[in-house]
Amino acid sequence: MRQSFQSVKGMNDVLPDETPIWHYLESCLREITTSYGYSEIRMPIVENTQLFCRSIGEVTDIVEKEMYTFVDKGEDSLTLRPEGTASCVRAGIQHGLLYNQQQRLWYMGPMFRRERPQKGRYRQFYQFGLETFGLKGPDIDAEIIALSARLWKKLGLNEVELQINSLGSNQAREAYKEKLVDYFAQNLDALDEDSQRRLKLNPLRILDTKNPGMKGLVENAPKLLDHLDDESKQHFEGLCHKLDHLGIAYVINPKLVRGLDYYNRTVFEWVTTDLGSQGTICAGGRYDGLVEQLGGQATQGCGFAMGLERIILLLQQQSDLSDKLSTKTDVYLCTLGESAEMAGMQLVEKLRDGLPKLKLQLHCGGGNFKKQLKKADKSSAAIALILGGDEVEQQQITIKTLREKSDQVTIAQSELISRLQQIFAI
Ligand code: ATP
Ligand code: MG
Repeated sequence: MRQSFQSVKGMNDVLPDETPIWHYLESCLREITTSYGYSEIRMPIVENTQLFCRSIGEVTDIVEKEMYTFVDKGEDSLTLRPEGTASCVRAGIQHGLLYNQQQRLWYMGPMFRRERPQKGRYRQFYQFGLETFGLKGPDIDAEIIALSARLWKKLGLNEVELQINSLGSNQAREAYKEKLVDYFAQNLDALDEDSQRRLKLNPLRILDTKNPGMKGLVENAPKLLDHLDDESKQHFEGLCHKLDHLGIAYVINPKLVRGLDYYNRTVFEWVTTDLGSQGTICAGGRYDGLVEQLGGQATQGCGFAMGLERIILLLQQQSDLSDKLSTKTDVYLCTLGESAEMAGMQLVEKLRDGLPKLKLQLHCGGGNFKKQLKKADKSSAAIALILGGDEVEQQQITIKTLREKSDQVTIAQSELISRLQQIFAI
């Protein structure tokens, strides 16, 4: 029996009719980040497992249960990257890009987390990430938020809400943790199993619970924002002031703690209600301690990551976009007979020299005129060019319109480029 294969659960193919929308999103991201003076960095997909344990935090969903970890030929423990910040910091330290410098970097690529697949949540997914180093903010915090707001505007995504919070300094957070532990300890029965475990290991994570049964409990917990150190308070007020000034609307969400351990001060998420429960399309914040934690000299950091599949899902809801992004063929060349087949290949290459923007498809695989025209029609080309033995001899070409009725015309090949320029206004 023949064996057939399926893609691995939660890991998707992006099919040819979907790639135009991906290209569009990617080019918008490149264009905007370049205009803000950010440079691309590319990191490997696999890193040493310890890099993620040390940065993301041992008691987080990602490290506890979502990482694809394997032992490489009985030696090193390696992991498919679940996110990009740790790798970016590792690369920055390794190549001396961070100490005493300011950097604005971006990256894009697949990440891997072993989660339960559902709409907007996959095991291989794409992130666009942006990291800044050596900038203490809050101006840079506001800049990266303004950059993301510009992207939503360009993409026509209006239903996204900015939520912000401050996690304060590590010290202030430790003091707050004690208050939080007291509060939850008094409500032990209301905690689910995960949260009871977290109470000992990482109580802040309880605020991040997705369990609706604990909503009320979490709602009434002491608020981190009420326990900020003075500097963090000023930082947060500075950010709010800048956002007000830029006209960027935001909601302060005191429960926003983010699923990773390395954040301090500013954290934010862009959330939409158009995707069901997978509503966060961009999330980030400040991680001033991470570079030092990973062995570098103390350097401030601030960045975000976007889940591209979720943004693609939103773009797919825009009905006119796929027409606009169509990569349909403009012109289809049919050749009749051996001499025309040879000459046709030369002709299309010449056309490609002269009209690089034209989407031109050469008929391959032979067949009679009827069959070739059928293919031309299916290609959704606006016109077919027909090259037969006579045309080759006379250095001519016949133009047949496929979408509207008009007589076919035969012209000199030397006039073809200017005629096509006219027809397609290119
Ligand atoms: P969530 O709360 O949705 O699990 P997260 O806090 O784990 O998100 P981050 O690690 O901050 O997410 O990643 C940044 C962004 O990457 C998310 O806001 C989301 O848009 C996207 N993302 C995260 N995990 C997945 C996934 N499994 N599939 C698709 N996109 C994802
Ligand atoms: Mg998650």
